[in-house]
This record gives sequence, structure tokens and C-alpha cells, in this order.
Amino acid sequence: MIKMDFDPHTHSTFSDGKNTLEENILAGVGKGLKKIALTDHAYLHMAYGVSMRRLDEYLKEAYELKKAYNRDIEVLVGMEFNLLDTEGNIDIPLGYADEFELKLIGVHKLTKYSNFKSIVYMMGYQLFDKIRYSRKVLDINTKSYIAAIENNDIDIVAHPSNIARVDFKALAETCERTNTLLEINARHPDLRKGDVEKVLETKANFILGSDSHRAESIGECGYGSRFIEENSIPLNRVVNAFDA
Ligand SMILES: [Zn+2]
Ligand SMILES: [Zn+2]
Repeated sequence: MIKMDFDPHTHSTFSDGKNTLEENILAGVGKGLKKIALTDHAYLHMAYGVSMRRLDEYLKEAYELKKAYNRDIEVLVGMEFNLLDTEGNIDIPLGYADEFELKLIGVHKLTKYSNFKSIVYMMGYQLFDKIRYSRKVLDINTKSYIAAIENNDIDIVAHPSNIARVDFKALAETCERTNTLLEINARHPDLRKGDVEKVLETKANFILGSDSHRAESIGECGYGSRFIEENSIPLNRVVNAFDA
């Protein structure tokens, strides 16, 4: 049974999670994790983002908990940022780039995109995917991801291919070059076999993430462990996975 020893993707009551940062950390300790990242949604997620008003409070509390629990578990203070446009902008507020120890990026439905063109392109694929394959939209999405990774020193691409489909070969080549990991997300079973094959052709690696919104699912792989087995992904290509 495949498990993770580091959960890099968790949400608390600061965004749309049901438990506090501390309850999540304690759940991680209880599950025997070595490491946990706190990664609430960034502020331009219109429904759930940590508002600019609460961002300092989030960082203060997260760093205090990191210190308080450092004998039990390694805590990384992070955030799940939103892709905003094709130029690679994400919603890290000015002056805050160095405040985060782990940076995830993702495409989300309720993001306040930079401009109308980005809404059309980045949402477009999802809306029209069932009707007509659009290479142009795929290329725009891919360009957005690559620019965001290159401009912002990103650690993990969260749930790649959920909402916005991408060219996995180009994305994986960028991840290899920039040492960015591709998430196998426990809650979004959107990766396809062909995507995995393209990633495995490069030296880019995967990481399991629970994307937990409740303390009890911290450290849980969800469909991820089955996905790894079904797609014959070597465990040495998933940085936080081990066979228990
Ligand atoms: Zn997400
Ligand atoms: Zn998330």
C-alpha cells in the first residue's frame, strides 16, 4: 500500500478547510508524517482566498505553529496561488515572495483573472473540451503554467490538468529544468495515462498531495496510490511516496 510521508497540500479555516492550522498539524503528527505544508488558497480566489487583511495573521500563526511543533513534525509555511494570465502572473502580493517556504500554483474556477482574455482562454478549455478539442487553448494554458513556474520559483504544480488541460511534455520539461514537482492530487483524478507517460520521458518528478480540507484526510493519498500502481509510476519518481 502506497503512502506519503510528507503532505504538501492542506487547507485550513483560513481558506475553505474545516479545521484550524493547528488541528491539521496535529493530524499530521497523528498520522506519523515527517513533514506537512500549510497551503491555504491565495487572495484572488474569489470565494476562499486568504484576504489581504488576514494574510499577515495567517503567516504569523503558521510560523508560530511551525516553531511550537518543530520536535514533532516539520511544518512548511506555504500557499496555493492562482494562475492569473498568460504572462505568468500569480497572486503573490507585492513584497511577500520570500514569506513562503512552499509555493503551489493551480488553476481554479473562481479566480479573479487578470483580464477578460485569460478568463476566456483558461476557462475555455474546460467549457468546450467536450465539444471540440482546441490546440490553441491548450497552448495558452501551457504558456501560462510555464511562465508562472519560471517567474515565481514554484515548487509544485497542484492538480495539473484539473480545469485547464495542458501540454504535458512542455510542462514536464519546464518542471525538470526548474526542479518543480507535479502533483498527484488525492481529490482530483484528472491526470491521464498519456500525461504520465510524457512526464516519465523527462526527469521531472511527481509528488502526492492530499489537498485535504478536513484534518482526517491529512496525509491520505486518496485515488493517488491506486493511480501510481495502475500507471506503473516508479516510486522513485514520486518524491514523498513509500510502500508501507
Ligand atoms: Zn487547488
Ligand atoms: Zn488545494
